[in-house]
Amino acid sequence: MCEMCQKSPCIPGCPNRERPKRPGERRLRCRRCGGVLRKGSEAYEKNGNPYCGDCIAQMDLESLLRICEMEKESLLKQIGLLPIRG
Ligand SMILES: [Zn+2]
Ligand SMILES: [Zn+2]
Repeated sequence: MCEMCQKSPCIPGCPNRERPKRPGERRLRCRRCGGVLRKGSEAYEKNGNPYCGDCIAQMDLESLLRICEMEKESLLKQIGLLPIRG
């Protein structure tokens, strides 16, 4: 039983009552490591899947390409890495 309102579960307005989670307040978890993405920390999102900055930084190119649904060649071209033809 709640010490403040003497009810279980708490009555509306009791400070002990668990506040209903507002939309947009739900905690995002990194899709890769499962870590909670804290407000203000580096984080990214792709197709609704959140990723923490650490994971993005540590991810190998193949994983990044899979997340971004990109072809390796087109990504490399976009960032200006051009194949050298010997
Ligand atoms: Zn209460
Ligand atoms: Zn992560």
